[in-house]
Amino acid sequence: MPRTKIVILGGGFGGLYTALELEKTLARDPDIEITLVNHENFFLFTPMLHEVAASDLDMTHIVNPIRKLLKRVRFFAGDVESIDLDNKRVRVFHGEDEHHHELEYDHLVLALGAITNFFKLPGLEERALTMKSLGDAIELRNRMIALLEESDFECAQDLRRRLLTFVVAGGGFAGVETVAAMNDFLREACDFYPHLHAEQIRVVLVHPGAVILPELGEKLGAYAQKKLAERNVEMRVNTRVAGVTEEGVRLSHGEMIPTSTIVWTAGTSPHPLLDTLACEKEKGRIVVDATLAVPNHAGVWALGDCAVIPDPKTGKAYPPTAQHAIREGRVLAQNLKAAIRGGKRKPFEFKTIGLLASIGRRTGVAQILGRNFSGFMAWWLWRTIYLSKLPRFEKKVRVAVDWTLDLLFSKDLVQFKTHRAPTVSHTLHGKPEPLMVDMKGAPRAKQEEMMMSV
Ligand SMILES: Cc1cc2nc3c(=O)[nH]c(=O)nc-3n(C[C@H](O)[C@H](O)[C@H](O)COP(=O)(O)OP(=O)(O)OC[C@H]3O[C@@H](n4cnc5c(N)ncnc54)[C@H](O)[C@@H]3O)c2cc1C
Repeated sequence: MPRTKIVILGGGFGGLYTALELEKTLARDPDIEITLVNHENFFLFTPMLHEVAASDLDMTHIVNPIRKLLKRVRFFAGDVESIDLDNKRVRVFHGEDEHHHELEYDHLVLALGAITNFFKLPGLEERALTMKSLGDAIELRNRMIALLEESDFECAQDLRRRLLTFVVAGGGFAGVETVAAMNDFLREACDFYPHLHAEQIRVVLVHPGAVILPELGEKLGAYAQKKLAERNVEMRVNTRVAGVTEEGVRLSHGEMIPTSTIVWTAGTSPHPLLDTLACEKEKGRIVVDATLAVPNHAGVWALGDCAVIPDPKTGKAYPPTAQHAIREGRVLAQNLKAAIRGGKRKPFEFKTIGLLASIGRRTGVAQILGRNFSGFMAWWLWRTIYLSKLPRFEKKVRVAVDWTLDLLFSKDLVQFKTHRAPTVSHTLHGKPEPLMVDMKGAPRAKQEEMMMSV
């Protein structure tokens, strides 16, 4: 009997939690083969990403190797190139030479998430940093440290001001947590740069709405805004980024902020691979039914940020958050089991438990089961809840240790550069190096050429 093949595309919250649920059921069946494909070989816990950028956490502590999370589900580290729904095949590539493999499937789970959208704003794509991947957080951290190093010995006042100005666009969760973490990091770091003072640091948050963190309501948004302003974060609300040049960031009402750093968190777009699929979409995301199946495409499922999932209570789509993607993954896995083994499929239903944001200096804002929290209590809830959600005991311990050490020591200022150390390729003291090449079998002329070249 041919084995039933399930292929999951994407190892973020949606894809991974589908696979984790399947580990308990279908993955135990020798007649079923389940494969998860992901670009990186790790699962990234995005809610703590800003803590890596701001040097609160070690960069590997918020990621988990997918192989350590899955025992029965096969893992393929590679990139999905194309999806052929008619012939039930997925083309993937990996390796240095980017060679291809074809994965056949009976059931396909689409969990490719979303990507950053720059909305064709002039100069933005070339110059902006993003906050989506682990690499993004490391790049931002490196950039902040590099600019502090440069500014410390920069005597041209204008240039120094530009180097020490940082703009974050987007007053949602990612933008607010990032700007707060950057602000704390940069101001604290000044203690170690003798020619810099915290007052020289300029951090600006640009947000198109009237109040930041709109998902949390006006009261908590206004609180977060006030707290950030007290810590010298400049607020530009009701404002959009109009463009970015080498000189700085131009805002919608005409102001030009001289800076060399803009972090863009103000827009996402569904994964571009979805464009190639002939199924119903809404603003580029795949429309699924209440059981997370894609209508008119038997055996195709979708969840997370790349799917539009109807909320039966409101009639609107569920929001694209990690807490939803986790629950969707569990329901999707159970429905997959029902589709293969028979049984009743269940609709996805979930009510947001809470929303939390850390806004720096041991303060936060949170709305849990309809109750608002702010200040230290909200920050403590943020840490406790997210620590409990971080997969694997080992990583929980590592993060808890990092947080404890953070109370005792100042933030680390080491840049993570991956350049090769300087090298040369010449003979030692002009003497010919021992002949390392194998000349056996080479024709005489070739042997002479090889001798000349060593
Ligand atoms: C900075 C930040 C902070 C956040 N904080 C919170 C929070 O506090 N609480 C909350 O609920 N939500 C938060 N979110 C939102 C949350 O991360 C997303 O809603 C969630 O990750 C969606 O899960 P997903 O599986 O749909 O997509 P993702 O988690 O993005 O997973 C998609 C996966 O697909 C992989 N992939 C993409 N393309 C390919 C390809 N071609 N080939 C192979 N693999 C591919 C990606 O590498 C990725 O691993 C945050 C997001 C960000 C960026």
